[in-house]
Amino acid sequence: MGTITCSRYHDISCGHRVVGHEGKCRHLHGHNYRFHFTCQAQELDKVGRVVDFSCIKQTLCEYLEQRLDHKFIMWEKDPLAQTLRDVNTLGVVLVPFNPTAENLAKWMVEDVAPGLLAQYGVTLVECVVEETAKCKATYKL
Ligand SMILES: [Zn+2]
Repeated sequence: MGTITCSRYHDISCGHRVVGHEGKCRHLHGHNYRFHFTCQAQELDKVGRVVDFSCIKQTLCEYLEQRLDHKFIMWEKDPLAQTLRDVNTLGVVLVPFNPTAENLAKWMVEDVAPGLLAQYGVTLVECVVEETAKCKATYKL
């Protein structure tokens, strides 16, 4: 018996920097991120779906749109965090981790998705975060 999942992606543009990076990712810069969300349910609904694709859009994609799109993602322990917040309070989003693609993927699966998806009875089982078409990170339950 196989496993059925359904997936949707969403694109946002964000700034970030990676604290402690040895190369140019330590600078303030940004990406056109693509987040891929893969959901799974205990069983298909009576129509034959894991969940309607619009539910992923209204929850996870909308979260990205509201919380991160066109903003700057910073680790709350980044020494530059307060300075950037002072010049653009609403444009800087503080997160409790260094904002690598890996940590963003894990954050979506472990922290963000459970609350948003609970009402639909589905679980985000995998998130892929692409920083570029060539570079991506995956977190899987
Ligand atoms: Zn980067």
